[in-house]
Amino acid sequence: MGDWVRPFQTNDSSFLEVRVLKENYKQEMQKRQAEQRAKVQQASDPDRGLILVHTGNGKGKSTSAFGVIVRALGWQKSVAVVQFIKGSWRTGERAFFTKMKGVTWHTMGEGFTWDTQDRERDTVVAQAAFSKASDYLKSGEYDLVVLDEINIAIRQGYLDIPALLAALEERANTTSVILTGRDAKPEICAAADLVTEMTEIKHPYAAGIKAQRGIDY
Ligand code: ATP
Ligand code: MG
Repeated sequence: MGDWVRPFQTNDSSFLEVRVLKENYKQEMQKRQAEQRAKVQQASDPDRGLILVHTGNGKGKSTSAFGVIVRALGWQKSVAVVQFIKGSWRTGERAFFTKMKGVTWHTMGEGFTWDTQDRERDTVVAQAAFSKASDYLKSGEYDLVVLDEINIAIRQGYLDIPALLAALEERANTTSVILTGRDAKPEICAAADLVTEMTEIKHPYAAGIKAQRGIDY
């Protein structure tokens, strides 16, 4: 008899230990779940679109915005993108999203050639892109408007902060907007619901590796 009682008892006590651990774990999880539910109940739907800012020196500001576009499209939402970068640059995201139903895409300076560096002309095309962006924001036709690299256009002085703040303020109630680019101005961050700063820990460029198709553009 002893032959089977002993191992059984041993197993039983470790089994009990596991059961106690499981019970503790369960209680801990139940507590967390209750806390989480209480938080969720307190949080409310804003009944308006949000303003999101992706800034900082690390890579991922634009690609994160493109990720949000994928999410929005997954819910059959409509999206507009205005890129405040020079129009001749071919990118995977443009090639992809311009084929997608539900996406309106405008890259600054489309139709322009960029063989001369001309500040006045840069300002003119940035203003034209901004006017397009303001229309998209106001129209109510878009659930999400992405203003890619607009922080750079502001930093370069092509656009001014009060005009951007006004366009954000005048956007349709249901429209969310993402503003990307380094050096987001404090005034823009203050108006935003979300500000994320990408931090560079390491970038291949520092090791002399050039921009890679499909990773960087
Ligand atoms: P991505 O479009 O890859 O998300 P980003 O929007 O965060 O990058 P930008 O400032 O718009 O960054 O830079 C665009 C290009 O510069 C991309 O090719 C990107 O890989 C590259 N880049 C981004 N961060 C760095 C960095 N810290 N050092 C060097 N190159 C960078
Ligand atoms: Mg970018």
